[in-house]
Amino acid sequence: MRSRRTFKLLHIALLLPIIYDPGSVDILTERKSGEPMARQPIIQQDGGGRRGDGGGDSPSDIPLNNSAGNSAEGSFDADDARYDDELRPQRLSEVVGQRKVIERLKIMLDATQKRGEPLGHLLLDGPPGLGKTTLATVVPKELDRELQITSGPSLSAPKDLLPYLTNASYGSVLFIDEIHRLPPTVEEFLYPAMEDFRVDITLGDGLNARTINMKLQPFTVIGATTRSGMLTAPLRDRFVNRQHLEFYESDDLIAIVNRNAKKLRTTISDNAAEEIARRSRGTPRKANNLLRWSRDFAEIKADGSISHQVVVESFRMLEIDDVGLETQDRKYLESLITIFGGGPAGLKSIAHSIDIPPDTLEDEVEPFLLRCGFIQRTPRGRMVTAATFQHLQLPPPRP
Ligand code: ADP
Repeated sequence: MRSRRTFKLLHIALLLPIIYDPGSVDILTERKSGEPMARQPIIQQDGGGRRGDGGGDSPSDIPLNNSAGNSAEGSFDADDARYDDELRPQRLSEVVGQRKVIERLKIMLDATQKRGEPLGHLLLDGPPGLGKTTLATVVPKELDRELQITSGPSLSAPKDLLPYLTNASYGSVLFIDEIHRLPPTVEEFLYPAMEDFRVDITLGDGLNARTINMKLQPFTVIGATTRSGMLTAPLRDRFVNRQHLEFYESDDLIAIVNRNAKKLRTTISDNAAEEIARRSRGTPRKANNLLRWSRDFAEIKADGSISHQVVVESFRMLEIDDVGLETQDRKYLESLITIFGGGPAGLKSIAHSIDIPPDTLEDEVEPFLLRCGFIQRTPRGRMVTAATFQHLQLPPPRP
């Protein structure tokens, strides 16, 4: 027994220098639940990515109260993910809304704890800012297990994934954000790890090629995706639990805004909280970021407390309209109407015409426009609806 273990350790020691280049890997490993071991870029920035802007900003070193209430780059971004950690719920009891998902999660967690086994692999999907990362970080805390975090775009080869797999302890959680962006080679490397807790490493090539199997500790992958449709069937099938996050109801957003106003030690009136919730596109991240903006605005332009008037005026400055549409939403709708005659038009054509990447439109703009009934997705392309003309106060097209 002992010699087998020594052999295995020797094996790993010999293999790692060949397949694993530590310099190329970014790791955030939460050794004890909730305590990050090494905090390098949490999730690497990619072309259209939204996290880890490469500056390694932590919430504490971001200027929140500069004169215009702007973010570090000089313009307020209502989607800025850098502030998330400070307001992120830490336990399941703090998570607001998503009742059905939370109910199912509780059952899974209770059963897992009762049996003392690792949780089955879990896939969370839904538009950005709805709480996928939040749930992924809360689950290991509830189970008192370790957490490692990475993302699809930062794993460019199997060697990037290997350290996460070999580091995974019994029952620990590996959170892979944007899992739909895993390169195929990494995805294939992940299959046996998820299914049999094993990795297959090929050394050499041609006639000299050898495959070595390495046993892993049973662990849980939590994958998050904004595009479950882009996941390959074999990867999707390896997730025994799949949960879809919906946009939030107004009451839930009001609760989030009020709770976070307390955390930010600012006062807010009831109708101001309602107004922020109404214009947050059903998304807690937006609600949080708009709350911060209103707080900055209130401090500079008013007496510091967030009133309804402060919210209305501060949103006018951001060009966020009554239902929460922003400049890029309006650009999308206007181009669909003026350039494409109301549609149908392909996503890429619209993206080119307004110079916004198709991924951004698909992830961040279209889900909300679809939800509001401002666009339809047909097999021939995107089309505006009568509600769009009404909302933009444009004359409807002649029949
Ligand atoms: P995603 O990973 O889906 O893009 P996050 O989990 O990063 O979204 O959520 C963004 C922010 O929104 C979090 O930091 C948190 O403050 C807030 N948030 C998300 N979901 C909830 C929720 N259910 N209850 C309270 N706050 C939430």
